[in-house]
Amino acid sequence: MRRPSPTPGSLPGSNGARSALDAEIAACRRCPLGYQRTQVVVYRGPSSPRVLFVGEAPGAEEDRQGVPFVGRAGKRLDRALGETGVQLPSVGYLNLIKCRPPNNRFDRAAAAACRPFLDQQLATLRPEVVVPLGAHALKALDPSAPAITVASGHPRSTGAAELFPLLHPAAPLHDPRLRNRWLDDLGALARFLGAARRETV
Ligand code: URA
Repeated sequence: MRRPSPTPGSLPGSNGARSALDAEIAACRRCPLGYQRTQVVVYRGPSSPRVLFVGEAPGAEEDRQGVPFVGRAGKRLDRALGETGVQLPSVGYLNLIKCRPPNNRFDRAAAAACRPFLDQQLATLRPEVVVPLGAHALKALDPSAPAITVASGHPRSTGAAELFPLLHPAAPLHDPRLRNRWLDDLGALARFLGAARRETV
């Protein structure tokens, strides 16, 4: 059994409430993934992000570093966001599941065990817009939403939060035909945020 990973609450932008929550997540053993992870992966970003990206679960690189979206998909997302003019310092990243599932398979039981953490993170970070990345994140945040291929690129309100679903950034890596769709939808998010480059330069 691995030892608990260090508290990731020392990430930039940490505050008291988040540090306590981060420590609780770091010590979590509510499901088997808590015993298999290298590091728990909690959050990357400022303490009050304007936009919060919600992914599914950490991948290999995230598990190694203990930071969300630092692997191939995350780098792709950061680069594309920069190109659309979205201000990266106003963006936060986290996942439904805080520990890497073996073979990167989505683990429903782990998502259910992590759910209270997700809800507390949303309540503490209070983002203006939440961006579910991919089908699992969308269904978790808005069970009545249509398929991600339909919802991606369009704002929707759940009452609790303003959502702007997007295809997961790994989707075009697996299927290059989705590349233009993914970029178009990201551009729609940038316009929705009023952050298109032409408005910021
Ligand atoms: N994919 C996710 O959904 N989350 C990560 O942190 C990395 C890849």
